[in-house]
Amino acid sequence: MPTKTLQGIGASPGLVIGPILCYEVPKLVVECQQVDRPEQQISRLQAALHQAQQEVNALSVQAMRDGGSGEAAIFEVHEMFLSDPELLQQVRSTVETQRCNAEYAWQEAIHAYAETLRVLGSEYLAERTQDIEDVQQRVLRILQGTSTQATHLEKPVVIVSADLAPSDTVVLEKKKVLAFCTASGGPTSHVAILSKALGIPAVVGLGEDIRHLDNDTIVIVDGTHGEVLIEPDAAIINQYQQRINAHSQRRQEALKYAHQPAMTLDGKRIEIAANLGGTTDAKAALEYGAEGVGLLRTEFLFLNRNAAPDEEEQTAVYRAILQAMGQHPVVARTLDIGGDKPAPYLQLPVEMNPFLGIRGLRLTLMLPELFQTQLRALLRAGAGHHLKIMFPMVTSCEEIQQARHHIEQARADLSTRGIEAALHCEVGIMVEVPAAALMADRLAEVVDFFSIGTNDLAQYTLAADRTNTSVTGLADALHPAVLRLIHMVVEAARSHHCRVAICGELASDPLAVPILLGLGLDELSMNAHAIPLVKQAIRHYTAVEAHSIAIHALALDSAAEVRTYLQQQARS
Ligand code: PEP
Ligand code: MG
Repeated sequence: MPTKTLQGIGASPGLVIGPILCYEVPKLVVECQQVDRPEQQISRLQAALHQAQQEVNALSVQAMRDGGSGEAAIFEVHEMFLSDPELLQQVRSTVETQRCNAEYAWQEAIHAYAETLRVLGSEYLAERTQDIEDVQQRVLRILQGTSTQATHLEKPVVIVSADLAPSDTVVLEKKKVLAFCTASGGPTSHVAILSKALGIPAVVGLGEDIRHLDNDTIVIVDGTHGEVLIEPDAAIINQYQQRINAHSQRRQEALKYAHQPAMTLDGKRIEIAANLGGTTDAKAALEYGAEGVGLLRTEFLFLNRNAAPDEEEQTAVYRAILQAMGQHPVVARTLDIGGDKPAPYLQLPVEMNPFLGIRGLRLTLMLPELFQTQLRALLRAGAGHHLKIMFPMVTSCEEIQQARHHIEQARADLSTRGIEAALHCEVGIMVEVPAAALMADRLAEVVDFFSIGTNDLAQYTLAADRTNTSVTGLADALHPAVLRLIHMVVEAARSHHCRVAICGELASDPLAVPILLGLGLDELSMNAHAIPLVKQAIRHYTAVEAHSIAIHALALDSAAEVRTYLQQQARS
């Protein structure tokens, strides 16, 4: 009988085999009860909020210690909800007017808040309601005197759940978590962020079927392809086990050389950099052999909060990252908000097609104060370091000229204030829109470097929303249409002495290495965990061989054909 397979979204790469553990934290629902002394209920709530703040603070510290900067940032948002005066005021007024218990008023206030976010229609915001509900449950548990205990796991397991809130995962013993599988959730859900940071495979958006499995059912989780194989027979387990063993051997071997440069057999060197989405990620980048930061996603500082960070806060965070990276180059991408990453405090109009709307550089050019603050902070932090500035979602030369002008203005403002700033820094753009790839020869005249964002380039080229489970499979960056655009960009850049990197997920796939080498990329930037294997893959080809592999792939018909061809050419 063929093995039943569930298809979801690969949220964190890797392959594991193991028994599942259905992990559901029961949700508390409370009834409305009439009370005689509403003021007593308000005091109970205030005490519970205070205790919740202390708990969340401790979890945030624990998350930082575990290396989860993304997770720690999420707990900071929880602290923000807990100290929101408007929320407290709303609960107070419900308790007073309805003369009801604090639990009920709190439950209803949070419910209303979550609903407002849900109806805004953004997948990202809908996923943030999970944070709010997490806070709701914490306070309800405290009010009812039932606290969550750290969950001890008897043995290594694949955690299966409807979805996982930050408070649910932080109490799990991560060393015994083989993988995460959730029924709902998308690529920006909490569990996706957490598992990537910890290097644990994860598949999200698997649908309800995954939750109907019994504990200890054996599954194979393929976080790279978003697949879960249920109760595979011995032959399949054997086949996958061999792949896992071979992979782990390759990884051990690659780790030994992670700090050596990535050089082809005929001596061509490719720079290898890391993508960072938080302050603590710099440590992993250096540990796994990054030679710089090819993409600092600065939006991590702007999401999940109710006001933009000011110049001082931004300067301190950027400086910490630049200092951690020493003299290595750091490419800081200016705010790429909009699309699937909205910031509600900017009060932007709701868009029907946010991916085709006010996003990235379009947004910062529309909000000059926000842009100037970020540029001043970057320039201040960049003094004495190797800072490069990069703009996201660029489609024209004109946008770049305007953005460059903003850099000059920020520098001039700092000089008037007598504040030290980076005197010179290279300026580049993300090439992630087909228009930018097609116009690369012109854009190369006005920038110092390109970094190709294959995640967006694939979604825009193939008209496949990267956050839509039904079409994510179509947004494959190995599609010859995307490869041809990459080829065009590299050719255009070469004639203008403009450096070209790739910082989309494609750069972290060892299978894609010969094509990327062959197309002539100068740098590959990826999540830190992927670096050792990509470096090792580069060492198996000559530049000449890679070139002929790339040329062959460009002439194929589909992403599937390219994959099959690359598998035939793969070396280890
Ligand atoms: C990309 O689009 O490939 C990219 C690296 O940017 P992001 O994933 O942050 O949109
Ligand atoms: Mg992008």
